[in-house]
Amino acid sequence: YNVPVAKNEPVLSHAPGTPERAELQAKLQELRSEELDQPMVIGGKEVYTDRKVRMFPPHEIAHTLGYFNQGDASHVEMAIDAALEARECWANMSWQHRASIFLKAADLLAGPYRAKINAASMLGQSKNAFQAEIDAACEFADFLRFGVQVMTEIYKIQPESAKGIWNYNEYRPLEGFVFALTPFNFTSIAGNLPAAPAMMGNVAVWKPSKTAVYSAGVIMEIFKEAGLPDGVINLVYASGPVAAETVLTHPEFAGIHFTGSTAVFQSIWKTIGENIYKYKSYPRIVGETGGKDFIFADNTAKKRELAIAMLRGAFEYQGQKCSAASRCYVPASIWPEVKEIFGAELATVKMGPPEDFTNFVNAVIDESSFDKLKGFIDRAKDDEDAEVIFGGNCDKSVGYFVEPTVILAKKPDYITMQEELFGPVLTVYVYEDEDMDATLDLLDKTSIYALTGAVWSQNRYNIEKIAKRLENCAGNFYINDKPTGAVVGQQPFGGARGSGTDDKAGSIFNMLRWTAIRTIKETF
Ligand code: GLU
Repeated sequence: YNVPVAKNEPVLSHAPGTPERAELQAKLQELRSEELDQPMVIGGKEVYTDRKVRMFPPHEIAHTLGYFNQGDASHVEMAIDAALEARECWANMSWQHRASIFLKAADLLAGPYRAKINAASMLGQSKNAFQAEIDAACEFADFLRFGVQVMTEIYKIQPESAKGIWNYNEYRPLEGFVFALTPFNFTSIAGNLPAAPAMMGNVAVWKPSKTAVYSAGVIMEIFKEAGLPDGVINLVYASGPVAAETVLTHPEFAGIHFTGSTAVFQSIWKTIGENIYKYKSYPRIVGETGGKDFIFADNTAKKRELAIAMLRGAFEYQGQKCSAASRCYVPASIWPEVKEIFGAELATVKMGPPEDFTNFVNAVIDESSFDKLKGFIDRAKDDEDAEVIFGGNCDKSVGYFVEPTVILAKKPDYITMQEELFGPVLTVYVYEDEDMDATLDLLDKTSIYALTGAVWSQNRYNIEKIAKRLENCAGNFYINDKPTGAVVGQQPFGGARGSGTDDKAGSIFNMLRWTAIRTIKETF
């Protein structure tokens, strides 16, 4: 059961003068200069339709990257059929051969495809080079390598035997197909959601976010080059409701691997419930959804480090991480100094297209996100319960640019302390130092989510107390760090409450969901 020991892919700096920077810049130029006609990939075949949807960088609306071929219910059905056909061979392929395909895909990502997957994520999803690198190249390779390792660890879990009796577990794939419904914000998650079940011998129908189709095409190219047989993962671009309706009413629907909004996940769960009599098996429901992730500081917190954690946690990738810090609780005694440091740091942050590597903040993903964020910011400007203390400008004339914005909430349950905005907007509530316990109670009650959170303190009694008091508020809890940037194999990622099923992406807990175990007892 030995596979190469998984190690995190080292993050390349892309600093001026490095070969990776030159390669990435050349790839950006190359991709910008072509106009793709991007097919769906069903049963290994490229499928084109007459419904072409334009793809463009969120930071440069006028530039056309190409067109993807929009499908309908018939394409989703084709994808299901292709998956079920492929299942006959794939489910019986030995794990060593499945493993070698995904290990090769990881090496392709880390090697010859690194610049391409990064450039596609920068152009299609408006990520800066660092954000693309930690996601599309490194985290994706980590998901694949750790996934393979975890798979073998699962196979090693075997029951006891007894005199004259041999017991063993067979780890079979689920009977049917898995539906992967994937988000725009992480290329790694988009790739891992179909890949993780596939590693365990399952076949998948994959519907990417319509705002991340561009990099999804590159992922399929890598899987193909790695030798993934046709039909194991089928990439379809149908609208969410059409895909969901077709998939969730199919008798062979065996599970969903989802990252996206809480509302969509809840409606999927409801549809699964309504169709439960149609399925052969109880489907596995694995989802990571929203967050309203917090930073809670006490009055012993290191002010500079806290300010930087707030800034990075809130504004990296424009706050479009499920884990992004979006509400912050700071005691009145340290707030003036934290605010000053934060403001000085924020003044050095540049916003613009990612092709200029000096820009830290790029565009938000699409117009509806831009409009929603602008709506909340404008409302805060007019609201007596809130004050916009940094940023607040929004401009969609060239791309969907929302300036990093800080709202000071005068009430702890102000709307932007509760609702997930999914953008570069941080809300701060300043509490009186003596009210710390009451503020912890407020934090617990203010939002329905429980994905990530951080405590900032130098007082070990407080750290312990706060960690205990907030034990149900975050599936990933950080002590003196920002609440983003979980690393595969180091911080298994996922939360509970409104944030998902807490199945911990990239870990054994997640991979166990993609197998149906048959236990065999033989007597001699
Ligand atoms: N794993 C990512 C992080 O720790 C967040 C994933 C997500 O946004 O879904 O920042």
